[in-house]
Amino acid sequence: MTNYVVGITGGIGSGKSTVAELFEELGITVADADQASRDIVKPGETAYLAIVEKFGSSVILGDGTLNRAYLREKIFSRKSDRLWLENLTHMPIMQNLTNTLRHAESAYGILMLSTGIGKSPLMHRMIVVDVDPELQVSRVKQRDHNDESLIRKIMASQPKREERLSWADDIIENNGDLTSLRQKVYDFHETYLKLASHA
Ligand code: ADP
Repeated sequence: MTNYVVGITGGIGSGKSTVAELFEELGITVADADQASRDIVKPGETAYLAIVEKFGSSVILGDGTLNRAYLREKIFSRKSDRLWLENLTHMPIMQNLTNTLRHAESAYGILMLSTGIGKSPLMHRMIVVDVDPELQVSRVKQRDHNDESLIRKIMASQPKREERLSWADDIIENNGDLTSLRQKVYDFHETYLKLASHA
């Protein structure tokens, strides 16, 4: 296991995935919590079987995979179901992430978290990717082709910008172009190599 883990978080469209890809380009292993939450509900996995048992066959699509949209609707209409699902998936997600980091051969590892999570004991350092809210709206609009009102609703449901920034050891401001973002990632990479070698 790599003995040094750097977390990345940020609001929707802040550029977390882009930042994680830039670290990957440098050979750093990235464990992605969103990806882990999809992997652990693949057909045949323990969590998949428990979900099908609880919600019945309407939670499965024709190809046998989970109907995530249906499941999302279910859990948002009933808090006890949401808690049940969180409880079911928490451990396997953590195991999936630690497994990825354990097998990492890079000098340090990156743990990319979804938007609502602060620093966890698994991390030695936390990056928050920060962007001007208007630029955030326009980048998400271009990426997902959603209406602006939906994007603003999602942003309002996420932790406030100030709260997120209070979790940061390092802030990557992403109001510039991709060249300047790449340079910032390269600079932090040098810092993390040093920190990881002394950890
Ligand atoms: P997140 O993972 O935080 O939701 P993404 O990394 O997907 O955000 O970035 C949101 C969108 O903005 C993507 O389409 C991405 O290509 C684009 N993007 C990210 N950073 C920049 C940048 N510095 N300049 C231009 N476009 C960017």
